[in-house]
Amino acid sequence: MKHLSILGATGSIGSNTLKIVEMFPEMFSVVCMTARSNIDLFSEQIKKFCPEIAVVFNENYADALKKLIGRNSKTKIMWGQSGYIEAATCDKTDMVVSAMVGSAGLVPTVEAIKAKKNIALANKETLVMAGSIVMDLVKENGVDIFPVDSEHSAIFQCISGHNFSEISKILLTASGGPFFDLPVDEFLNIKPEDALAHPTWEMGKKISIDSATMMNKGLEVIEAKHLFDVHQDFIEVVVHPESIVHSMVAYKDGAVIAQLGIPDMKTAIAYAMSYPDRLALNQPVPDFAELGSLNFKKPDHNKFKCLALAYKACDLGGSMPAVLNAANEASVSAFLNNKLAFTDIPVVNELTMNKHKIISNPCLEDIIEADSEGRKQAEKIIESLEK
Ligand code: NAD
Ligand code: MG
Repeated sequence: MKHLSILGATGSIGSNTLKIVEMFPEMFSVVCMTARSNIDLFSEQIKKFCPEIAVVFNENYADALKKLIGRNSKTKIMWGQSGYIEAATCDKTDMVVSAMVGSAGLVPTVEAIKAKKNIALANKETLVMAGSIVMDLVKENGVDIFPVDSEHSAIFQCISGHNFSEISKILLTASGGPFFDLPVDEFLNIKPEDALAHPTWEMGKKISIDSATMMNKGLEVIEAKHLFDVHQDFIEVVVHPESIVHSMVAYKDGAVIAQLGIPDMKTAIAYAMSYPDRLALNQPVPDFAELGSLNFKKPDHNKFKCLALAYKACDLGGSMPAVLNAANEASVSAFLNNKLAFTDIPVVNELTMNKHKIISNPCLEDIIEADSEGRKQAEKIIESLEK
């Protein structure tokens, strides 16, 4: 039996993780789960999975949640950062599923690693913000990080059983999002509801917008760089609108190994939860004859400036990726609240990066400070653009 702490249980990844737990009750149990504020769904999940600890964002949500789950519940309700850390480091936990969205995932994930928990990592922001620090901690504490992001799970599967030094290139696939073929002069009219309608994946709001700007792929390049310890120039983004090939690895003899499957996160989540075993998820195999063809294209870095910014942040290194991530969280949130045009997301991100004085070898505190400063700077820029 593997005991799980699920950080971000009410989200898209969290809910899919719970579906897998439900399918394999003899293999997994949930000891801790966390959410931010969706207490209606969270209370239902708590009633179903009976964790020992459940954590929400603040005291008000905690009080409301206590009322919803009732006096007889054995689950201890906690709130705030200390609660999230308690859930991430709980003695009974074997594996932490890190599936909060955004920079909020960083500290609980770091604390989980320090407490020697294996990690199923969905929260790519952890590696974007503090990749070197996190991977050093992983080595120091002798834990494993299993990727949940579908592309990184694919790469992980394509390198397994091979000599890593024989790899010539990592081919990171991208759906291209809903606007890949839209002429750039029509980008100005894009509304949040258009950007949220992802053609192939069902995901949370923030990552859906990141997919539409292709920032998500940029963040994934940085994630892959740290996870697999390769230089960013080794990673090529290939647009593949069908989202059937989840990524590929090329070897020095010209062989290319790919991992394929329908676009459903459960396969990648389950593999991270049960590695090296595979779970009988009964996922349909893609109907290749029906599909007929799979398409591949080059991304346009001028049209999707966020992708170019991610490579730039990666080249600059140090605290810059954390600042790009902070700026992007602020600009995406402003866009979702109809306070910023879609086309201004990369503008805010770039201007924020330009204002940042890089710290070359940051410690975790420097990263947290850079995140907070980057966010404030981005919010100032957003305000000035609003006027
Ligand atoms: P989501 O928005 O659906 O869910 C996010 C979860 O985090 C929710 O449970 C929410 O309550 C919690 N949360 C949000 N803000 C919080 C805060 N400030 N403090 C504590 N908890 C907070 O997001 P998602 O789509 O499930 O994505 C989660 C992570 O997984 C992201 O880092 C994303 O990039 C990554 N990811 C998601 C997918 C996908 O298919 N959804 C695929 C690959 C990677
Ligand atoms: Mg992905």
